[in-house]
Amino acid sequence: MAKVICSKHGIQFGMMVCGHVNDAIETNRHLRYTPSSHPDIEGTWLCDQCVCEFEKIRLDSDLDAFLSRIKPPCVVCARAWERMSSE
Ligand SMILES: [Zn+2]
Ligand SMILES: [Zn+2]
Repeated sequence: MAKVICSKHGIQFGMMVCGHVNDAIETNRHLRYTPSSHPDIEGTWLCDQCVCEFEKIRLDSDLDAFLSRIKPPCVVCARAWERMSSE
């Protein structure tokens, strides 16, 4: 499982999000996301753009490129951001 070292919360792991959501968490910006239900990336938080991109993937190489942009956020920061985003 990929892990991340948060400057506020230390070592965190257990979640995956697309790079856009990761940026939004880090900069505290609002961004709509959908947890994926696809078996390859189940539970990964994807922004609308990445949901569209993922649906268009047909080749393994495209899937690899997509997965290389998936990042592990700090779980504590992600949960705080989730609360802020849903308010
Ligand atoms: Zn995205
Ligand atoms: Zn954190």
